Amino acid sequence: EFAEISLRDIDDIAKSSFPMCMRHLFEKLREEHHLKHGGRMQLGLFLKGVGLKLDDALAFWKAEFSRKVGAERFDKEYSYSIRHNYGREGKRTDYTPYSCQKIISSTPGVGDHHGCPYRHFSEENLTAALSRMGVNSRAVGDVMNKVRNKHYQLACTLTFEAVHGSSCDSGINHPNQYFSDSQIIMK
Ligand code: SF4
Repeated sequence: EFAEISLRDIDDIAKSSFPMCMRHLFEKLREEHHLKHGGRMQLGLFLKGVGLKLDDALAFWKAEFSRKVGAERFDKEYSYSIRHNYGREGKRTDYTPYSCQKIISSTPGVGDHHGCPYRHFSEENLTAALSRMGVNSRAVGDVMNKVRNKHYQLACTLTFEAVHGSSCDSGINHPNQYFSDSQIIMK
């Protein structure tokens, strides 16, 4: 478990330590001020896992969604499910963040931004996303080879290694593991 992350630092932390699946959702949320249900679940539970407290989570989602649907509609339609994810509503289950396996086997539809980019992006979009993360062209080639062989988590592991200039012997099997391994290197 990590110490609380503060809302002030969240954009920097997203850039330095989020795996591509979460970076993509984060950027789309900032851009479109909205995410569909699958994206809200995947990113919301991840953020909970990295240590975003409930009050900060509500403030974070509200700041974006208010710009699209208004604050009132956010409070009415969206805040419940965020509290629900934190076990404060309904059956009060403390929901856990999704693993890579679960994300890779999801089936995002049109307009959805959840899923695993290594599995669900076109080659063109994936290559562009890798360059934006600062992965050099030789490493991009290695990543794309893994993707063509359907080794998505290995592709993500190679990306981690390229971005951090450091090996990741355990491999990536959970987005929150990617995050915590990254934070150890960044600190
Ligand atoms: Fe996210 Fe896992 Fe896919 Fe990496 S392999 S992008 S952590 S779902």
